Amino acid sequence: MKIIAIGGVAASMSAVSKLRRLNKDAEIIVYEKGEVLSYGACGMPYYISDEIKDPKRLIARTKEQFLKLGIVVHTNHEVIEVNDKEKTIKVLNIKANEIFTDSFDKLIIGTGASAIIPKWENVELENIHVLSVYEDSIAIKHKLDTENIKNVTVVGAGFIGVELVEAFTTRGLNVTLIELGEHILSSFDQDIAENLHQHLIDKGVSLKLNEKVIKFEGNNKIEKVITNKGEYLSDLVIISVGIIPNTKFLRNSNIALAKNGAIKVNDCMETNIKDIYAGGDCSLIYNRATKEYNYLPMGNNANKQGRVIAENINGSKFEFLGVLGTTVIKVIDMEAAKTGLTEKEAKRLHKNYKTVMISGRNHAGYYPNPENITVKIVYEQGTYKILGASLVGRKDTALRINIFAVAIQSNMTTKELGFLDLAYAPPFAGVWDVVAVAANLAK
Ligand SMILES: Cc1cc2nc3c(=O)[nH]c(=O)nc-3n(C[C@H](O)[C@H](O)[C@H](O)COP(=O)(O)OP(=O)(O)OC[C@H]3O[C@@H](n4cnc5c(N)ncnc54)[C@H](O)[C@@H]3O)c2cc1C
Repeated sequence: MKIIAIGGVAASMSAVSKLRRLNKDAEIIVYEKGEVLSYGACGMPYYISDEIKDPKRLIARTKEQFLKLGIVVHTNHEVIEVNDKEKTIKVLNIKANEIFTDSFDKLIIGTGASAIIPKWENVELENIHVLSVYEDSIAIKHKLDTENIKNVTVVGAGFIGVELVEAFTTRGLNVTLIELGEHILSSFDQDIAENLHQHLIDKGVSLKLNEKVIKFEGNNKIEKVITNKGEYLSDLVIISVGIIPNTKFLRNSNIALAKNGAIKVNDCMETNIKDIYAGGDCSLIYNRATKEYNYLPMGNNANKQGRVIAENINGSKFEFLGVLGTTVIKVIDMEAAKTGLTEKEAKRLHKNYKTVMISGRNHAGYYPNPENITVKIVYEQGTYKILGASLVGRKDTALRINIFAVAIQSNMTTKELGFLDLAYAPPFAGVWDVVAVAANLAK
């Protein structure tokens, strides 16, 4: 069996690594258009902040290490076409500028996504970056280390934008964050996300909400960001306004794509074409909370999908149960997390829902340095079934979301969660943990 994987990061590499463990004999070839593969993209903001000094620490395995496992990786090779009828791909060897054809028995598509760059005037000026791939993080850090950069503007307050705001603030830079919407982190409910606004402002971030970038100005290099409300001196700009699946090379194939270009897959990560699988940021994923196939481009999802692909290619019918859209973010000294349905999703899906929102302590009030955690639960009216939860606060907030992920996946009610045997000792929780208190207040 000859297996080709396109893309060399989370989805593809977890698929081929697992496949190798399951099947010692299969021929496995990977084509990756970049120079570096198998790295933790999620760690890039912490390399830029200088908390991680050596970028190589982000790399899980090198090409040579994969070769020792019998996985042949071709870097600087871009797949430019898939012929699903003939089971062949066209590959561009970028360095040699040569195109050749290869054939497969099974194909794995794990090509990820690229940052969207709007066609703003002067967007091509120097020192305007996106943070999408490893090389972007090297370029951004190099500029911070070698140029006299004082003022940084981040456009877009999604996960990557906010993580970069933290990175630049950690480096002591003047940071402006421009966001088109009313609040940061648009996937969260406003009443959760806006708890982070004052914290950003307290940390010196100039937060501009409901503001739209119009153009950039500068002489070769960026100097100013112009919006509908003002202009901001900038030595460096990061555009983080969303991502788009890397699936353009499939346009002449019969592989079915969703509206945003993501590959449609079933619960075995099969596309509509036999023997072609997809996973990670280039594909949709089943969301148990919405009961839809959604676009949820997250590293943990990509890794799980990769393993499901391997199991299925190897012949065991392994159906993925789906995800809950669980996400977590650190915002300087605060943390936020969510799982299942937010209130706005419950509204969109016309659920018969209610919410409860409270603030409580991370540990016993008499134990030193207690901090507040805000908990919001979305539950079904009448049945009390938990549909979703969001948390925001300081220390000890984020990982409490995992209680809710288990509760939702097990169809628990607020009543069951309220009396769950959660751990208690003064340094860790109150005798009634804030999660249980919130659940017990659901009426
Ligand atoms: C700054 C940042 C922070 C993040 N933080 C988190 C986090 O905290 N938690 C979380 O869950 N997720 C996080 N993510 C998202 C996570 O990194 C992605 O979900 C994950 O990397 C997706 O893996 P993937 O394999 O699908 O795609 P990618 O990691 O994008 O890899 C795809 C690879 O395919 C290659 N490729 C594309 N087209 C072709 C082609 N035609 N031919 C050959 N090769 C091709 C690309 O060069 C790329 O290397 C973060 C992402 C970024 C950028």
